[in-house]
Amino acid sequence: MNQGTSRREFLGTLAAFSLFPLEQEKPDLILHNGNILTVNDRGPHAQAVAIARDRFLAVGSDSEVMNLASAATKKIDLGGKTVSPGFIDAHAHPAEAGLMHLRMVDCDRRSISAIQAALRERAAKTPPGEWVLGFKYDDTKTEEGRPLTVADLDGAVPDHPVHIRHRGGHTVYVNSLGFRMAGVDEKTPDPPGGKIDRDPATGKLTGRVAESAQEFFEKAIPQNFSRDDHREGVKLISKMLARTGITSATEAQGTPTDLRAYQDAHESGDLLYRAYCFINFHFLDAMIAAGNRTGLGNEWVRVGAIKLVCDGSISERTARLSTPYEGRPNDYGILVMTEEELYTHGRKAHLAGWQIGTHANGDVAIDTTMRVYERLQKESPRRDPRFRLEHCTVVNDSLIARIKALGAIPTPFSTYVYYHGEKMRYYGAERLNHMFALRSFLDAGIRATQASDYPPGEFIPMMALQSEVTRTDMKGNVWGAMQRITVEEAIRVGTINGAYASYEENIKGSIEVGKLADLVVLGRDPLKENPSTLVTIPVERTMAGGRWTFES
Ligand SMILES: [Zn+2]
Repeated sequence: MNQGTSRREFLGTLAAFSLFPLEQEKPDLILHNGNILTVNDRGPHAQAVAIARDRFLAVGSDSEVMNLASAATKKIDLGGKTVSPGFIDAHAHPAEAGLMHLRMVDCDRRSISAIQAALRERAAKTPPGEWVLGFKYDDTKTEEGRPLTVADLDGAVPDHPVHIRHRGGHTVYVNSLGFRMAGVDEKTPDPPGGKIDRDPATGKLTGRVAESAQEFFEKAIPQNFSRDDHREGVKLISKMLARTGITSATEAQGTPTDLRAYQDAHESGDLLYRAYCFINFHFLDAMIAAGNRTGLGNEWVRVGAIKLVCDGSISERTARLSTPYEGRPNDYGILVMTEEELYTHGRKAHLAGWQIGTHANGDVAIDTTMRVYERLQKESPRRDPRFRLEHCTVVNDSLIARIKALGAIPTPFSTYVYYHGEKMRYYGAERLNHMFALRSFLDAGIRATQASDYPPGEFIPMMALQSEVTRTDMKGNVWGAMQRITVEEAIRVGTINGAYASYEENIKGSIEVGKLADLVVLGRDPLKENPSTLVTIPVERTMAGGRWTFES
């Protein structure tokens, strides 16, 4: 026997051996007497699961699974409670949101006076001259029925510069001292692709600043987050996500700094969800030069797609549409990158083996993005590129057919109908039947995901289910009833489809032997719940990789 053979045999033995430990292993934990929705077609219901280390060792009836127990196995009686796979938020901004929660005033309040009070309170604790920062402000959700003004902000906080981000992320609101510190006044011209709002009668600044004009302030506000702050931000948002049943999330506009924050948080035991970290295209060259691409990492922290942006936002009414916004005959929204720019960046990423995720809300933007993807795949075919359409909000039959043909993945907003109902009228009843079009996607065999886009949208998975199943907002208005899906479908969308979108359907997204033990214990069964109260179903416990990440 020559050396080559023996080496091959040795490796063969190792490979065979590595298959056995899972089978011979005794479970650390058994959950039994449950109503387990597995999202596995070969056995959609189970009573019990056995877990060894971070994986499911067995899934089945109580008697089958209990037989595997050793003296050391911990057993938990679920008392008939419903269990689903952990939810996957396929498009959110958690690391960024965590930092904001750490440092900024949460302006998600129902009146301008309540926002003023919160800003005043923060200013009292902030040295004069230092910025008071806010986020999650929403002009459509305050009882005054008008946007914040410079006067509102000056009245609340005269001695500190103030900068408040709109919930959608495309506009900010600034006070007088803030404008002064950023060197912006009434005579400052609007930069290309941006707007410094002025009162049409007086020419005075209103306080609102849109799109690229935000850069004046990004330069003026010190970015003094330490490495530890970034880790703390991930720790904070981890707890917020875990308590709602989320076990995985895509960081949809990530950076190398976010990757480091995730790795740091994972090492310190503070990361409670699996992060698929997109990389902003500004870092594409550096990442390619370093030899990195989509998939690098492990089950907890993984490099995701390269992120490109084609148009504006739905919540702030800047998505690029083929027909104008309701009541605004000349307003079609905006494109932020040209087709050629998308193609140039996209080609580089595609050839280097990256998945691509392009922000495309309006039908014009989706058409443009699809043309780029189709061209890339035609010129340089790649096996299984899983092109992603981030948001993919307003569609039509021909776009659906092209998305299906290319195997592209839409990540539509899951909670917008329910949570942002007051903005839906800008799109009109007819168009709403083609927005967040889950019914159309699923009927065409397209694997759409659950996605919050938090902070712009709420991330609660039970709210996503209600929004998708009822297409009804908080006040009872129905928007796009044609796109309703069933609760069962909504759970699939929020679990296995999310896993597919990050090439991880073989390791998570359903409760199956060998997959990661990510699950949620719910207070009530969503399949038996009145659809109009799905959002009230409490999450009792969340588990990721065999470890409880939340217990009520
Ligand atoms: Zn986003």
